[in-house]
Amino acid sequence: PSKDYEVKRRTIYRGVQEMSYFVNHELENLRKKTNELSPSELNGLLDEIMISAKEHEMILLNDVEILGNMEGFDAWRASESRALSDLVQKRLHYLQNPLDCSKARKLICNLNKSCGYGCQIHHAAYCFIMAYATKRTMILNSKKWRYHRGGWEKVFLPLSDTCTDPSGIDRSNWPGSNATQVIELPIVDMLSPRPPFLPLAIPRDLSDRMIRLHGDPQVWWIGQFMKYLLRYQPETQRMLDEAKEKMNFRKPIVGVHVRRTDKVGTEAAFHSVDEYMTYVDDYFNQLELRQKVDVRRVYMASDDPSVLPEAKKKYPNYEFLGDVSIAKGAAVATRYTDSSLRGILIDIHMLAHADYLVCTFSSQVCRLAYEIMQALHPDASSKFKSLDDIYYYGGQGPHQQLALYAHTGRRPGEISMDVGDVLGIAGNHWDGYSKGTNERTKQAGLYPSFKAVDNYRIVDFPSYSEVAV
Ligand code: GDP
Repeated sequence: PSKDYEVKRRTIYRGVQEMSYFVNHELENLRKKTNELSPSELNGLLDEIMISAKEHEMILLNDVEILGNMEGFDAWRASESRALSDLVQKRLHYLQNPLDCSKARKLICNLNKSCGYGCQIHHAAYCFIMAYATKRTMILNSKKWRYHRGGWEKVFLPLSDTCTDPSGIDRSNWPGSNATQVIELPIVDMLSPRPPFLPLAIPRDLSDRMIRLHGDPQVWWIGQFMKYLLRYQPETQRMLDEAKEKMNFRKPIVGVHVRRTDKVGTEAAFHSVDEYMTYVDDYFNQLELRQKVDVRRVYMASDDPSVLPEAKKKYPNYEFLGDVSIAKGAAVATRYTDSSLRGILIDIHMLAHADYLVCTFSSQVCRLAYEIMQALHPDASSKFKSLDDIYYYGGQGPHQQLALYAHTGRRPGEISMDVGDVLGIAGNHWDGYSKGTNERTKQAGLYPSFKAVDNYRIVDFPSYSEVAV
């Protein structure tokens, strides 16, 4: 390592110590003074402590970011990311373009799931992963697609240049047999038996490289299927380029997605504009430690037309990009139509191309933007803040974590764990604790998030040795 690297590393070490000296001292001080302080003095002091603690955190995170780009690591990451993505894309191209379509083994995917755009794209990507895992060419049946009556190919490139014909000598519903030429897939909720390679599984033959490269290889993997699936038709590309130009989409920019209307109270809680903007502020404050930011830009997407005007009024120091008429068109009544397609295409494209995302992962719109984002950077796994769920894929297999450190539950509701315990994770409360079940003790409750890491499901997929590396 270079001198600069070693110095930076020690600076971070010392920074963690200093942060802890500060927090300990301030808490001790509060303990002593509690009885002397009026409520407003107490509040003032707490505010001050929180602001200083935030500053410690920002500088530490910024230093870690700098450390990660030293020693030519950023150049390595860029070239490895390109190589790995090229390999997966080549395999997908090979899978989708059999020499003789009349003999090819096929997997039929019907794009008629009755749900929103994000949900439908997730359905198609689930089919595509199943196709890759079973080495079957995916045939997408998108006739009368609710988002475009003309079908998939009016918006995106066809999934194959050589093979879009669904016919074959025999046909069966999933699972059929290996020899059955054409197999038809149900939606993931109806899938039986459920194979091991559903998300969040990652392929064994690439897993070491993926884990080395990326902070969340499970999402990187999904992102690669999205990259192939969502190749725009020239006309779609033109529409998006024009929209980008017209709104003056420039970096740095944060993408915010506020999902309201029918989702609130049924599948997600209400979150105020202020809550989203706290994290946008954090992003820009940290960025300003590294570079000058002339304009704080935010791309604002929502299905609630009141969000953009509210944000513009309350945050005059920001420049907000977005389109209230898109939000109006995203209302429940008009949602699943050809005319709403343009709006959701623009919103997801801009969100995915932002530098950072603030949203709720309970929404498929936001998860889709995050997945697409992964194929646009070497490692964008930390470029988001979800106000609710951790990342997941609808219909996924069990999501587990692994305890790296032992823990003895101290507070009511906390569970204990030994090193190596497997935890089924239900969610992160973003307060230092995650909720889950210890599979060894069957205890369910809270455990400290920092003591566990994702336990990747590494599964045998075909390794496509026919495709040159
Ligand atoms: P979810 O319901 O949020 O999990 O995501 P879905 O994509 O399955 O369904 C929501 C649908 O509502 C989307 O596909 C859009 O049609 C619409 N919608 C929700 N949020 C937005 C938004 O921010 N912009 C636009 N244009 N449409 C949205």
